[in-house]
Amino acid sequence: MSEPIIELVDLTKKYRLFTAVDHINLTVRKGEIFGFLGPNGAGKSTTILMMLGLTEPTEGSVRVCGIDPERQPLGVKRRVGYLPEDVGFYDNRDGVFNLIYTARLNSIPEDEAKTRALELLQLVGLEDAAQKNAGQYSRGMRQRLGLADVLIKNPEIAILDEPTSGIDPQGVKSFLNLILKLRDEHGLTVLFSSHNLHQVEEVCDRVAIFNSGKLQAVGDIEALSNQVFGESGHNLEEIYNCFFEGGTEQ
Ligand code: ADP
Ligand code: MG
Repeated sequence: MSEPIIELVDLTKKYRLFTAVDHINLTVRKGEIFGFLGPNGAGKSTTILMMLGLTEPTEGSVRVCGIDPERQPLGVKRRVGYLPEDVGFYDNRDGVFNLIYTARLNSIPEDEAKTRALELLQLVGLEDAAQKNAGQYSRGMRQRLGLADVLIKNPEIAILDEPTSGIDPQGVKSFLNLILKLRDEHGLTVLFSSHNLHQVEEVCDRVAIFNSGKLQAVGDIEALSNQVFGESGHNLEEIYNCFFEGGTEQ
């Protein structure tokens, strides 16, 4: 079993009296595709923001690559690529410009930045749109550019917050295949949040089910099936429905 790369201990975030994340304990291992699953408002994004040092925990601790993001936000920023729910680009500039801009911010030398930008555009299937302004990209294309933007600094972990929401099925398929390829060929650790059960089941090695700021369950599908039903063989939808009687918003 590979080493832990993200460790959350009793992680809690309160907004005044409201508890958005409630004593979460969780370990993500190097090279895993790990899914954060749960309905809107369950606490997935808030947990991610605490991992990145973008919001402060009220209680508990976070370690990412052994680093405390609150104390060393730049150390985490160097090692972790983050694709937010709504990624912003320079919309009146093309894909190559946007990637090179990010490369500069990460102190990547100019000639290397250009080569890497072109390679990554090819990897995410945007080579034909490289000279098109980002503002003209579809939602699916923006998410793929976002993934290239995350990868340009060669991160150890990619944290993708609802990366497939609003993309058509074909676009989702190619996005998920890309994630699998990055794990298999580059050993990237991927944390992927979604409220789509089928997508999570398709690509994730392990899953954490969030509900109202709490972790309901963590494990691979087999372990979750055993935990919930006392036997293996149940799919994620059956497992999930045990926690959410009304089903999930897709
Ligand atoms: P998810 O990503 O699972 O949809 P979030 O982590 O965004 O959920 O939100 C969890 C809960 O915390 C929600 O009820 C949300 O309204 C609340 N919340 C998130 N950010 C803030 C904030 N800055 N101030 C107050 N409440 C917040
Ligand atoms: Mg969210």
